[in-house]
Amino acid sequence: MARPQATPESPGSRALVVDLIRSAGPISRVELTTATGLTQPAISLIVRKLLDDEVIVEAGTVPSTGGKPRRLLDINRRARHGVGIQLGFESVTLVATDTNGGVVARERLPGVGDDEPAGVIERLAESMRAFMTAADIPTASVQGVAVVLPGPMRPDPDTVIEAPTLPHWREVALRSAFEAALHMPVLVDNDASAAALGEFWSRGVSRYSSFACVYIGSGIGAGVVADGALFRGSSSNAAELGHITVDLAGPACFCGNVGCLEVIAAPRVVVAKALAEQNLARTLELDERATVAQNWEVLSRAAVEGQPLAAALVTESARAVAGAVLTLANLFDLDEVVLSGPGVATAGSIFVREVRAAMGRAFARNAHPTAVELSINPTDSAAIGAAALTLQGQLAPGHGPALRFAGP
Ligand SMILES: [Zn+2]
Repeated sequence: MARPQATPESPGSRALVVDLIRSAGPISRVELTTATGLTQPAISLIVRKLLDDEVIVEAGTVPSTGGKPRRLLDINRRARHGVGIQLGFESVTLVATDTNGGVVARERLPGVGDDEPAGVIERLAESMRAFMTAADIPTASVQGVAVVLPGPMRPDPDTVIEAPTLPHWREVALRSAFEAALHMPVLVDNDASAAALGEFWSRGVSRYSSFACVYIGSGIGAGVVADGALFRGSSSNAAELGHITVDLAGPACFCGNVGCLEVIAAPRVVVAKALAEQNLARTLELDERATVAQNWEVLSRAAVEGQPLAAALVTESARAVAGAVLTLANLFDLDEVVLSGPGVATAGSIFVREVRAAMGRAFARNAHPTAVELSINPTDSAAIGAAALTLQGQLAPGHGPALRFAGP
């Protein structure tokens, strides 16, 4: 991709330098000058400010031809902590990361279930305080918390969600409720978008890469990162991969459309098909009273181990997902796709195989490859992404949402 021109005065210059050190560090000032197109004095100025702010550190030297050795710069892993909460019907995950997105603490709590939001938020605020104390995270290193959950979302000043999996949470003023309970600035965002930013941040992906993450959880979502920033669209509901029409004559979806990828291939649909296959359900001991996640885990395990009918059902789902990911790759001319979310925690190899095969049909395949990888931590990916959202907002301003305390 062509590199945009930056000037020392442009507000994105600091974000550009942080992004390069994050993705290519340890790196010298000379390399930063070459990579950014900024002048040496401009780089010196930005680097000095970042060192003063303790966002970056000196990290040894490399020999240089002729002159004195070049000093290298790297992200200060302990400069800040990112903290994220992933809200789900079946589980809630708290995650704290270092500045590079490496997980330093994680806790899994019971999901919100059918409980009323006010009680859940109070309970979560208490858990969060205990979590940060146990993980020995200084409050001063945390500038806010991001809460992520499934959409659709309405990003009015208080962020309202309309997730079908969280019926009690509709019309709740989420941000101010969490800010009042946590006494900290709070961001609310979509779980799949957060996962995309988290993968981008923690994998050290270059901002010049056209990057997407496909997130399979209770539904199927995606996020696209271009020029170092999440592509948000008009209302932060961009890249809704699960609601691409894959069958014009298909069944109705909760979103109001018909034949969406989600109603064809989401884990809950495949689990329902498996439960209807009595022999398979009996052999695998699938349980109608268990959660979709539990049954999907059993089905995925059997598929990976080669149980023919389980493998056929999971592969059929993976092929439908792969077709939609190919569409995403064609729309955004993607360099890299990461598959993530609890839905690929066990059957990831099947999904990666099918998506890689589909990329052989990508429109731009002769211009460049599209790499397909599995997340290193698919189950916690959205919570890690939430933490990354708070980090990007602080460290690469202009690319992430600003953390501002707007609470009562
Ligand atoms: Zn739909």
